[in-house]
Amino acid sequence: MTGACSLCAAVGPVHRHHVTGRPAPLGAYLDHELVLPVCAACHASLHQGLRLCGLDFPVGATDSMAHRLHRVAATAELVAGASRPLALAPPSARALAGLLREAARTFDREAVAL
Ligand SMILES: [Zn+2]
Ligand SMILES: [Zn+2]
Repeated sequence: MTGACSLCAAVGPVHRHHVTGRPAPLGAYLDHELVLPVCAACHASLHQGLRLCGLDFPVGATDSMAHRLHRVAATAELVAGASRPLALAPPSARALAGLLREAARTFDREAVAL
């Protein structure tokens, strides 16, 4: 796949970085459509950053939704830190909308339970 890197803006071959990742190294992506194009160098440093933050995979009792939201936040911070706009292709924006709705429904359920 060719395009512009979301972090360094270089145009060329890009990887589809899955923003929310996988539940385990060989697991299916948590949000398959939620991707950000990044060049190989930025992809490697992005994953290194996620590992350093303990966000490469959900650990222990970490709720999957919290993990997914932390990964979205970490990605937004990285893109902002690179002084780039957070631009999502329509399928990715739709997947993000779905994720945020699912998270919002969690709060709605909690409100009902009180
Ligand atoms: Zn790059
Ligand atoms: Zn990736």
